[in-house]
Parts: sequence; C-alpha cells; structure tokens
Amino acid sequence: MRLLMKFGGTSVADASCIKKVVDILEEHHTKGDEVAVVVSAQRGVTDQLIEIATRLPNAKDDSAIAPLIQSLSKRHMTTLEGAAPDHVAKVGAEIDEKLIKLQNILFAIYTLRDCSPRSKDYIISFGERLLAPILGAALRQRGIASTVMDGCEAGILTTPQHGESTSLLRSDEKVQKKIVPMLKKEIPVIMGFMGCTPEGILTTLGRSGSDYSASIIGAGIDADEIWIWTDVDGIMTCDPRVINDARVMPSLSYLEVMELSYFGAKVMHPRSIEPAMRKNILVRVKNTFNPKHPGTVIVRNGQKDNRVVKALTYIDKVAAININGAQMIGRPGVAKAVFSNLADHDVNVMMISQGSSEANISLIVDENHLQTAVVALGDLVKQGIVREVTHNHDVSAVAVVGAGMAGAPGTSGRIFTALGNAGVNVMMISQGSSEANISFVVKQDDGARACRVLHDEFHLSEESDG
Ligand code: ADP
Ligand code: ASP
Ligand code: MG
Repeated sequence: MRLLMKFGGTSVADASCIKKVVDILEEHHTKGDEVAVVVSAQRGVTDQLIEIATRLPNAKDDSAIAPLIQSLSKRHMTTLEGAAPDHVAKVGAEIDEKLIKLQNILFAIYTLRDCSPRSKDYIISFGERLLAPILGAALRQRGIASTVMDGCEAGILTTPQHGESTSLLRSDEKVQKKIVPMLKKEIPVIMGFMGCTPEGILTTLGRSGSDYSASIIGAGIDADEIWIWTDVDGIMTCDPRVINDARVMPSLSYLEVMELSYFGAKVMHPRSIEPAMRKNILVRVKNTFNPKHPGTVIVRNGQKDNRVVKALTYIDKVAAININGAQMIGRPGVAKAVFSNLADHDVNVMMISQGSSEANISLIVDENHLQTAVVALGDLVKQGIVREVTHNHDVSAVAVVGAGMAGAPGTSGRIFTALGNAGVNVMMISQGSSEANISFVVKQDDGARACRVLHDEFHLSEESDG
C-alpha cells in the first residue's frame, strides 16, 4: 500500500513522541508499505515565531531575540539527543546553522523596523525547518533510510499569497517526479506548511497548513490513503476542550469535513480535503498515542446514518462587521464594491448576511483581518457608497454540520428553538448553499453554551440517534 502520513506538532512535541512516530513508520516500512511523511513544527513553535515576527518591527529593543533562539536550541537539541543519539553531531550542526540564520534575519527585521509578508513567511517556516531533520535522523537511527526536504523541494508550487497560499495543480506532476522514485528505498520526510511560487519564492499555506501539505503530497504521489496523525482518536462531534463528552466519529464525507473546517476551527486546514477529493483518496485521522484505535475515515460519501446533524464547530473569537447605509437600497453595485474592496485587501469573509431591506450587510471575518477590513471599508464611506461601518470583536461563530440536513426540513427550527429556550441570543445566521451547514454568531460569552445546548439537543454524545 502507498501511504502519505502526516504527523502534527502534538505528535513530535518531544523525543518520546518522536519515538512513537518512528514505531508507527517502522511497522509500515517492515510490512512493505511505501510511505512518505509530512511533518509539522513542534507544538507551540510556530506560535512563538509568529509572535516575534509580529512584535519586532515595533519593539523598543531587540532583547527578545536571544532568549527565543536559546529556547529553540535547547528544545530541539534535547529532542535530537533523545530521538537520534548517534546523529547528534551532524544534525546538531545543521540545527545550529539554521538558528544562526534565523537570528540574523530577526536582527535585520528589528533594525529595518519592517517585516514584509514575504519575510514573515520565511521566519515562520523555521519551526518545520528545525524539526524535520530530527525525524529524518530518528528514522536513520532505526536503520531506515530517509531524505529530508522542504515543501518547495518536494514540488509544492503555490500562488503568491503569503500566509495563505494555495497549491497549483502543477504541483501534482512535480511531487510525483520527485517523491515517487524515492519510495521503494526510503521514507522521505517533507516539511509541512510551506511551498514556493513558480519563481521559487517561499510561501506558507496558513495555520494548520501541514494538513494541506499532506493532501497535496498524497495527491501528487497517488497515495492509496492519507493518514493524519494527531493527539486525539479522530474527528469529534465538537472540540473536546469545549464539550467534554464529545464523541469520535467513525466516518465522515469530504463535504462534511470541509464544512467543519471551513471556519478555520482546529479540526483540519480548510483546504486540506480538496487535493484528496480530486483524486478520491481515502483520508484517515488517527491518534499517534493510541494507534490501535481505528480513527475517523473520510471518503466521498461517508457512512450513511439517520442523523441530520453530525457535528459542531466553534470559533471562540471572530469579528462582526456591520455596513449600514440607505444608499445601498436598489443600488446594484454596492455589494460588488464591498466584496471587491475586501478581496483587494486579502480579507477573507467567513459569513455574509444581508437584511431584506438592503440597508444593511453583516459580515464575519477572522479577527486578524478586522483592522484591514475596517480600513478598506472606510474608503467606501469616504466615497459615499455606504454610510457607516461598525464592528464588534467579542463574538463567537458556531457551525452545525451534517450532510443529512439537506433533505430534512425543520432542522433550523430545531436549532434556533433549542437556543432560544436556553436564552442564547443569535446575532446572525447563514446557511451554506450545500445545505450541509447552518452557521450562526453569538456573543462570545454565549459561544460554549450554544455548543452544549446543540450537542445535547441532537444527542451527539450517543452512538446512535435512535
Ligand atoms: P496537530 O498538532 O496534530 O495538528 P492540533 O492541535 O492542530 O493537532 O489539532 C488537534 C486538536 O484539535 C485536538 O487535540 C483537539 O483538542 C482539537 N480539536 C478541536 N476540534 C476538534 C474536533 N472536532 N475533533 C478533534 N479534535 C478537535
Ligand atoms: N506549524 C504550522 C502551524 O502551527 C503548521 C501546522 O502545524 O500544520 O500552523
Ligand atoms: Mg493541526
């Protein structure tokens, strides 16, 4: 069997985790499976890199750089020593070299007081750059040959949107040529989260982007299956940190997973299903720390069951924007002006609703995009196209997902009646055209409670809905 296995940051957090990863890979290698690996940064490292890259241009001094470099060095060296003791000298020197490079870039960012999206992408790719060689060495420690490469070397070609680039179809052929010939002899280890433009400029694929890398590489090598290894038994009916009795779902359709991850909830990267779906590749989500559990299987049609609602996703903090102005009534160009202005500023709109009076458009955006969106829409106020733009960032979004909702009238009635009975005030509602998703927005204080109410209403903790 040809497999693409992706290990997330939780699966490579320290040397003992990496040994479990190598156990899994060794088992499949010994069985004769062809395996390629995509690996993330160690848990928390990308957050640290984003934080420093964002802060440095306005920092009062450069004193944060040295402690960060020291802590990254300590963590990665300790992991290397535990996971691949025979390779400490060579791989340790490689890690040192990378850290010196990172340190120099960070000093340059501070000196220039400028961190362009292109520079930021380079900085935040270091988590994967530092970790992947350790996994490669840990495989060699067990006698398994392994070449380590970055996403660009593996053949991932992307659009130039730094921070959230999209893979080009041409990646398939490049990945195929590069990776497939290696599979007979070794386990290639590919750094997740990154690719490059056809001109060779490094890009990153967005948070949780290694899931997307996994699917791109899996499609490129025509894998029989793509396995996403993480720290829970599979995809659950809701974020287990919000709902303590959330249940692992044995099977989901591609569409359901796309709807669940669309908002950027931590289920999977929102684009990660696309390449797998294009090639009709089965995706499994499994637990590195409990590999015997069958996990969640994701296929085109999923398992048929009589549930209308299968799962919920919850984004604790999003931003709501209200665009008001009687000028919009009967003026067809207003919505176009709003959305093209936002698109020109790379603002991704997660939800839209327009009142029937046409005097108001409400939008939900990622809170990181709020400032840019407000500035972009301010231009429309100056031009007299809309009257007023207001915003509110203390709101949560919830998506209710299930392919069965498409043919089940009354589901939205049941959702909003249950919320109303629990005293949860709904600020905005939107239904996707696939009808597999009903999303709504509530005050941030009500978000977790809204999930609890609906999880109970649809008996999601129970194996069967009866
Ligand atoms: P990885 O490092 O493997 O990519 P992440 O931390 O990105 O792992 O995602 C795994 C975590 O996502 C789980 O530990 C869990 O707490 C959280 N999570 C949120 N929603 C869900 C869900 N619906 N199903 C499973 N896990 C979820
Ligand atoms: N390291 C990246 C992140 O933290 C990519 C990933 O983990 O999938 O977002
Ligand atoms: Mg992840």
